[in-house]
Amino acid sequence: MKYVNEYRDAKLVNGVIAEIRRTVTRPWVLMEICGGQTHAIMRHGIDQLLPPEIELVHGPGCPVCVTPLELIDKALAIAARPEVIFCSYGDMLRVPGSQHDLFSIKAQGGDVRVVYSPLDAVRLAQENPEKQVVFFAIGFETTAPANVMSVLQAQALGLKNYSILVSHVCVPPAIKAILGSPSNRVQGFLLAGHVCAVMGYWEYPAISEQYGVPMVVTGFEPLDIVQGILKTVQLLEAGMVEVANSYARTVTFEGNQPAQKVISRVFMEGDRNWRGIGKIPQSGWHLRPEFDNFNAEKRFDVDEIRPEESPLCIAGMILQGLKKPFDCEAFGKQCTPEQPLGATMVSSEGACAAYYRYGRQANHD
Ligand code: SF4
Repeated sequence: MKYVNEYRDAKLVNGVIAEIRRTVTRPWVLMEICGGQTHAIMRHGIDQLLPPEIELVHGPGCPVCVTPLELIDKALAIAARPEVIFCSYGDMLRVPGSQHDLFSIKAQGGDVRVVYSPLDAVRLAQENPEKQVVFFAIGFETTAPANVMSVLQAQALGLKNYSILVSHVCVPPAIKAILGSPSNRVQGFLLAGHVCAVMGYWEYPAISEQYGVPMVVTGFEPLDIVQGILKTVQLLEAGMVEVANSYARTVTFEGNQPAQKVISRVFMEGDRNWRGIGKIPQSGWHLRPEFDNFNAEKRFDVDEIRPEESPLCIAGMILQGLKKPFDCEAFGKQCTPEQPLGATMVSSEGACAAYYRYGRQANHD
């Protein structure tokens, strides 16, 4: 196929759904790891087309959702400083910290700006030498290349007023944490195609083998998603444990090696807190010590912030596939996209926002 429209062809999608119906003989729980896939599934009603044996649960692959509360509060503290221009992707502005969000800091006079690339923030640092420009570098493996390039670019330009507030997390340790949990329900994984486009999928066969769970690299268009589901169901039904690639037009086994190289030049692995889930060992990236000059947490004294989550929010259980958004008592009541209590209701990739937006009030609504 040549054009993206073909990946949205209802006839082709229905053909694959029919094949899933012919293949499945018993219940299976599959997790799509990526929030972009969760929204595509809801938007196109794929969950409602699947046979009842297939249950989809939604993983922690939404960067806005898993950015820990203490990092949001650190961002708010930095953004409120008069000498700072704080730059962020738009999604982060409404994510609630323990007291406020970045919008309210902006309303109170903070210089908070939405940018579309960290390189826009580097340009702002060049144009405003009297200001400290900070970029909120959140995300998974996908956004890491641009974020590290911004640091290298600022270094090459000799900028002393640019830094990044890093909250980078990685998919493989999260999958291990989910599969290693005694309460795990997930029997097959749809791996995030865009993460694998950068990192390849060489890290996954060992995890798949260790936990006896098949995994399929899956894209984002409706046809990609149903093909990923079909392949996972075929592997499960055949009792096969392997990692397959259903997104070969974009993903190779090795991934983008120049990108991986530049990431490891600037970032090193370390423990990370995931919002609602807690600390996952070696699950994130931090700036290497030689880039301390570009580390906003070191430049600004914000180390001691330790806030508490709303007790109503069960986003952590949703992101591990243990609950659905409609299981949360606050869903659609105290918590709506206009008045979110948790990040999964704010983010354009959040599972709670997807269920609210596309009217999923209970299973197979
Ligand atoms: S509906 Fe709101 S409070 Fe409930 S889990 Fe989702 S984000 Fe948290």
